[in-house]
Amino acid sequence: MSHKQEERFEQSENKGEEKESSERNETPAIFWAPHEDDLAIGAGGAMWMEREKGNPVYIVLMTDGRNEEIRNILNGKEYCKWHKCNHDFKLNQEQVNWARKSECIASVSHLGMDKVFIVNDGEGLNDAKAFTHYEEFFKEVLSVVEKFVKKYPKASHYFPSGLLDTLQGVPNPAHKSLWEAAHKLRPLLKNNKVSFFRIYEYGKSSLIRGKGARVAKKLDPRSFQGKQQALLQHKLFEPRAFRFATGYHSVAWIIDNAISDPNEYFDSWDSDISIVGAVTSAIDQVTTKTRETAAKVKEQIENVSRK
Ligand SMILES: [Zn+2]
Repeated sequence: MSHKQEERFEQSENKGEEKESSERNETPAIFWAPHEDDLAIGAGGAMWMEREKGNPVYIVLMTDGRNEEIRNILNGKEYCKWHKCNHDFKLNQEQVNWARKSECIASVSHLGMDKVFIVNDGEGLNDAKAFTHYEEFFKEVLSVVEKFVKKYPKASHYFPSGLLDTLQGVPNPAHKSLWEAAHKLRPLLKNNKVSFFRIYEYGKSSLIRGKGARVAKKLDPRSFQGKQQALLQHKLFEPRAFRFATGYHSVAWIIDNAISDPNEYFDSWDSDISIVGAVTSAIDQVTTKTRETAAKVKEQIENVSRK
């Protein structure tokens, strides 16, 4: 190596260090998105408010967007109740995945995000694995969360409420994995502001919605408007522009409820109240199945807190 080269090498090495130390001083609000539409639904207002406070807003998207139900509807294998027809888009898996990802970027752009990270080299983790190989999936999630927690030690974090946030009594495994990862890394996060947001809460009727969450936070009109704009991106159906409203094709009622509800629902670390709430609201649905699931949820919660 010539002297000049050596000098250049040293310079770039220093730059690397500088970059790292400036990252260590950043105070971003990191929003953890298990799926493409989860942030707009559960934390769009919180994102808006973090930006108003002047904090950089970072988004970490965990999964790749695959969803058999959405693909079946868009390809006409299943009837579309929204458009009252059988679509015929002939989308392959990769196209569905990217339709969902582009929808996510369009949506969070309305909330003014500063950085978007899509894990697994921009591909996202295989969401099907969360259902079939949970432990393996969880390990990958844990290592991503740990990396970010260490890289941005001054960040505040917004994780999904996971096990506490159920749809008809059942939590989603990808949501749960982030919640569990946060709990596992709790010692590392002891100096960080950490919130847990509910997504499926909007799937409940307004009579019981928010009953179990620790906090129902009313959004100010501007944040609510920002959130509504973000949500509408998941309802934008413009196939020629490769926009397929994948969010709305999958969870229309949840998106509609979130558009008309000015509250967001949060839990905290010690969410014993929320646990009671989650179980109560599951039991509210009074079928044997949800009773069993509620018991299972409770058992899982106890297992996690024992860990
Ligand atoms: Zn349709």
